[in-house]
Amino acid sequence: VSILGSSRSSVPEMAKNSPTIFDRILDGSIKADIVYEDPECLAFRDVDPQAPKHLLVIPRRRITMLEDAQNTDQELLGHLMLVVKKVAEQEDLTDGYRVVINNGPDGGQSVYHLHIHLLGGRQLNWPPG
Ligand code: IMP
Repeated sequence: VSILGSSRSSVPEMAKNSPTIFDRILDGSIKADIVYEDPECLAFRDVDPQAPKHLLVIPRRRITMLEDAQNTDQELLGHLMLVVKKVAEQEDLTDGYRVVINNGPDGGQSVYHLHIHLLGGRQLNWPPG
């Protein structure tokens, strides 16, 4: 039995099918400040940081958004989480940090290549905006 329902996204198919800026970071045609990489994923500094430390962890293989993830992505998604933890350690975020995935229009997602935000280096407020 699948633990995941079907996608009901209101995101236009065009947004899901067009290449994103992250493809260009992955192929090296746009420079990024890469802090970690392995065969499955890449972590780099966000170009518009919302905290003193703001990193993005992305899979090399594109999943457009969390709601499009499949059961077969389970291992990859778990790996991304553990990489977030590793990068947080690497960045000395010893006082804590926040991990965010924006999904779809209401979630504020702007790049349709799944990414995990890692934010830290200051006291973060709740609820977020
Ligand atoms: P989203 O709003 O959750 O989709 O997050 C996309 C993030 O990608 C934003 O925080 C942007 O600042 C970041 N971003 C967009 N283009 C670049 C880039 O070229 N390098 C690094 N980060 C980027």
